[in-house]
Amino acid sequence: MSEQQQFDVIVIGAGPAGYHAAIRAAQLGMKTACIDAALGKDGKPALGGTCLRVGCIPSKALLDSSRQFWNLQHLFGEHGISAKDAKIDVGTMIGRKDKIVKQFTGGIAMLFKANKVTPYYGFGTLHPGNIVKVKQHDGSEIELKGTNVILAAGSDSIELPFAKFDNEYIVDNVGALDFTAVPKHLGVIGAGVIGLELGSVWKRLGSEVTILEALPDFLAAADAEVAKTAAKEFKKQGLDIRLGAKVSKCEVKKKEVHVTYTDSEGEKTIVVDKLLVSVGRRAASKGLLADGTGVKLDQRGVIEVDEHCHTGVDGVWAVGDCVRGPMLAHKGFEEGIAVAELIAGLPGHVNYGTIPWVIYTEPEIAWVGKTEQELKADGTPYKTGSFPFAAIGRAVAMGEPAGFVKVIAHAETDRVLGLHLVGVGVSELVHEGVLTMEFSGSADDLARICHAHPTLSEAIHDAAMAVDKRAIHKAN
Ligand code: FAD
Ligand code: NAD
Repeated sequence: MSEQQQFDVIVIGAGPAGYHAAIRAAQLGMKTACIDAALGKDGKPALGGTCLRVGCIPSKALLDSSRQFWNLQHLFGEHGISAKDAKIDVGTMIGRKDKIVKQFTGGIAMLFKANKVTPYYGFGTLHPGNIVKVKQHDGSEIELKGTNVILAAGSDSIELPFAKFDNEYIVDNVGALDFTAVPKHLGVIGAGVIGLELGSVWKRLGSEVTILEALPDFLAAADAEVAKTAAKEFKKQGLDIRLGAKVSKCEVKKKEVHVTYTDSEGEKTIVVDKLLVSVGRRAASKGLLADGTGVKLDQRGVIEVDEHCHTGVDGVWAVGDCVRGPMLAHKGFEEGIAVAELIAGLPGHVNYGTIPWVIYTEPEIAWVGKTEQELKADGTPYKTGSFPFAAIGRAVAMGEPAGFVKVIAHAETDRVLGLHLVGVGVSELVHEGVLTMEFSGSADDLARICHAHPTLSEAIHDAAMAVDKRAIHKAN
């Protein structure tokens, strides 16, 4: 094996988890390679993983385009602004999204170059002895050896056996980010994060959107009051979310999809022109491991790791969506950095208790820490303080009074245990909770921090004051 094919660190996967690991390892002076199999829409290698190609960034580009269109039709009027016959050119909107994707995937290639990370374009498989074989796009195979190998293979959409993706009528996120026209009626299976975000995009552009969710509760992972408020707002927007709906059959007939489901009232069928299946994602571990590596997968193909993302095999680590924990880009960022630092002998660490969640709907939903349901279930004594955006001058001036902020603190120590928000701009505001919790701060700390007026963040200030029934702008 030649000198060039030996590395201190080999990363398989250049998504958020993998590219963070690779860049941080290279910054720390380690000779690093990063392998990725993905191709962009132009058929050329594209780094950045699901997040940059077909996830976080393109979905947010479309959420922003569609929000402008929706506001033009539904919000601008009250400002005295009118635009007759507003139209959406889907091709231009998708083109803008593709340009943003290209800018960011190309950006990772530049960062690799600047940090001296060697990229390999192809499919990597780990073999015993930390050997990685890469099947390149031209069919040739190369062999690399790493003192350390970091598996960052990410995740793929889960396919339902009765609703196979055909990329025309039955699609996953990839297809739903690339519709060439606004569907007349979009069906969605799964009222999770992707269903709500991409359902919102096409609803705002004029689709009738029906979301079928198997569970009886809406957004069970969120705080129950937040989920209730969000559901009310989504209903006002015309998103038709049907809970307890168990889909059993999907048939494409004459360019339409007939979706049969059963709920408490019996069997029903909806006919849609596109169907988005967003029922979760699974670890992309297929083909990643040759026999005899010793790396263990659980029944769902998730790579087993300890709290430091170590697989138990000497020098083999795994990070991001292909291991346990929430499937979030920023969780992958932190794991990638922590593992690179641990390899370099530094105290790399991820605080899983302060990873924020954001759903980029309108209103936005965000939280960090425990929900009331969770605290009740584990018997932790707690107190709460809430504050509505309807009483926040800035939110009302913006014409966005929906939603509220809730601070949850320990009943005895006052330490903040959770921050739950639904409303405008809460994707940014949630970080006040992250910061407070990282520094083991209390509700009183938050209440005593001066917040600029008039800002949306005042809702957090008043909610923190409400924990001890001293909010100024509402009756306690
Ligand atoms: P990935 O991003 O999946 O990257 C893995 C990479 O490894 C891929 O490029 C893949 O091609 C490559 N790969 C896999 N196996 C091999 C192999 N054997 N050899 C070579 N290469 C391989 N998260 C958020 O935090 N915020 C959001 O707003 C958000 N929005 C999303 C919207 C959508 C529509 C979707 C689908 C996801 C979204 N996510 C969001 C989730 C986020 O995209 C993932 O959590 C994140 O991309 C995971 O990063 P990763 O590096 O673990 O894996
Ligand atoms: P999800 O886990 O968020 O939601 C899936 C939903 O589908 C759940 O509510 C589940 O009960 C439901 N479901 C499962 N099987 C079903 C069935 N047979 N019929 C009807 N409903 C069914 O999954 P997702 O929306 O596919 O997103 C995947 C992951 O991607 C998310 O968990 C999240 O980690 C990540 N993501 C994050 C963001 C963000 O951070 N803003 C955005 C998009 C995706």
